[in-house]
Amino acid sequence: MQHYDTIIIGAGHNGLICATYLAKKGQRVLLLEASETLGGLAATREFHPGFKAAVAHTVSHFSAKVARDLNLTAHGFDSPMVPMPTVGLNAAGEHVVLTGIGVDAEIIGVSAEDAASYRQYRQLLQRFVELLEPFWLKTMPRVGDTRWSSLLTFAQLGLKMRLLGKQDMGEFMRLAMLPARDLMDENFDSELLKAVLSWDGLIGSKMAPRSPNASVLTLLYRMSGELGGAHAIPSGGIESLVQALYSAATASGVEVKIGARVGRILIQGNSDGLKTTGVELADGEQINAARVVSSTDPQRTFLELVGVENLEIEFTNRIRRLRCDGYVAKLHLALDGLPNFTGLAKPDGRMIIAVDMDAIEFAFDDAKYGGYSQQPVMEIVVPSLRHESLAPEGKHVLSAHVMYVPYKLKGGWTEDARAALCQRVIDTVAVYAPQIKAQILHSELLTPQDLEQTHQVTGGHWHHGELSVDQMLMMRPTYEAAQYSTPIPGLYLCGAGSHPGGGLMGGPGHNAARKILE
Ligand SMILES: Cc1cc2nc3c(=O)[nH]c(=O)nc-3n(C[C@H](O)[C@H](O)[C@H](O)COP(=O)(O)OP(=O)(O)OC[C@H]3O[C@@H](n4cnc5c(N)ncnc54)[C@H](O)[C@@H]3O)c2cc1C
Repeated sequence: MQHYDTIIIGAGHNGLICATYLAKKGQRVLLLEASETLGGLAATREFHPGFKAAVAHTVSHFSAKVARDLNLTAHGFDSPMVPMPTVGLNAAGEHVVLTGIGVDAEIIGVSAEDAASYRQYRQLLQRFVELLEPFWLKTMPRVGDTRWSSLLTFAQLGLKMRLLGKQDMGEFMRLAMLPARDLMDENFDSELLKAVLSWDGLIGSKMAPRSPNASVLTLLYRMSGELGGAHAIPSGGIESLVQALYSAATASGVEVKIGARVGRILIQGNSDGLKTTGVELADGEQINAARVVSSTDPQRTFLELVGVENLEIEFTNRIRRLRCDGYVAKLHLALDGLPNFTGLAKPDGRMIIAVDMDAIEFAFDDAKYGGYSQQPVMEIVVPSLRHESLAPEGKHVLSAHVMYVPYKLKGGWTEDARAALCQRVIDTVAVYAPQIKAQILHSELLTPQDLEQTHQVTGGHWHHGELSVDQMLMMRPTYEAAQYSTPIPGLYLCGAGSHPGGGLMGGPGHNAARKILE
């Protein structure tokens, strides 16, 4: 049996990042990936002959520190990236367009009052983004931990809040858990602008504009980093990020095996308690390691790979209760040419279809009760405009995140149900791009249940588990496993289900490696 210092389960971006940090410090690291492709939800795959797409279609807050530490530019990732405009689509072509980065972003298509409010709103939020930014790359203190390092983290947060000044500190505490709708109503008149600005606080979650919880925190999380909340497609596509991470990993000595599904994490018990000793692959091969790090979602890690027989009942219950049903479906269209959106010279931006916040709320209401909306809301990009090799010359790919699509559909996700939703989504896109139907060569719609199957993510959830106050920070995924170590010695977590959460950000992979190297 071979022996490694660390085995990492899953070669999504977090698994790759964690593996590279460990290998750079001299560890012998084996990275095992179940599928035949690297990148997890960010993997680029062919969905129609000659046409490719990735489930995650833009990058908005990938950690600049991770990019620097792993020297990703030298491995082909163009950081910092050129941001793309965000466009709130209007059927008559009277769009709201946001361009630029952070507080310097410009806004077109709203009144002078809204434009002025936007500048103030953006400056206020930027101060909160800067307050929180260092904490996304920190290990959160364990609940009840009174060690100096933990107290220091709390003290740092307290000090940073105090330095905001009395007024901003009060505003931060008031806004942090405010429903997105209240935040928008307080600041703007344009219904389209409100829908567009609330979007990044909501996408990927089971929250709508009226939901109290963490939509403002999620918004601040997504606004961290060099792009200040703008989105980009790297010049070599999402593929170039994954390739750069793979190249950095192998250059650091990480051994990567694809098509290597872990069936079980090996756990030995004796009078001293339990200990992780390695993994068993689905084909029965056993591989030993001093530690195992899982980037798969927490439910899959504990309930499937560890097994409840190795866990305490209370912990098992908390893992079972994690909320991780996804609410985003993915549409990929292979197009015969560039789609023409009314009023746009070129669809070279992140286009949002949500006329107002009620449209988002009503789409959520349908999903809450197990249906999907007849008026779905969505975010669209044409990634082949930025990454030409995604489609044959002259042809294009349209990629859309569609909300809210329930993981469990009333009556089940039959072929008919999937086809009906796909048609509904295409009909909705056609309101804004009237000639598009004639350009469609092939369509693919992946529901959260499909994403669970194709990408091995429980519930098909964007963040591997809801990013909500009860599942955030020192509670992510649960308070016994929020510091990347778990109740089983030698077993760690490094995926999106850990702090700070999902999105192509790299925080969990970075933080887990630091914890292991402590
Ligand atoms: C529909 C949708 C759209 C999204 N769009 C965006 C976007 O545009 N921008 C953005 O920033 N984020 C987006 N996200 C979120 C982002 O893609 C994820 O949060 C992120 O990719 C998670 O990365 P990860 O490395 O933690 O996990 P994953 O990418 O899920 O990787 C985990 C890996 O583990 C592997 N694995 C699972 N089980 C096993 C096993 N038993 N043995 C071996 N390997 C195993 C899986 O195959 C997978 O490769 C989207 C998510 C969804 C669902």
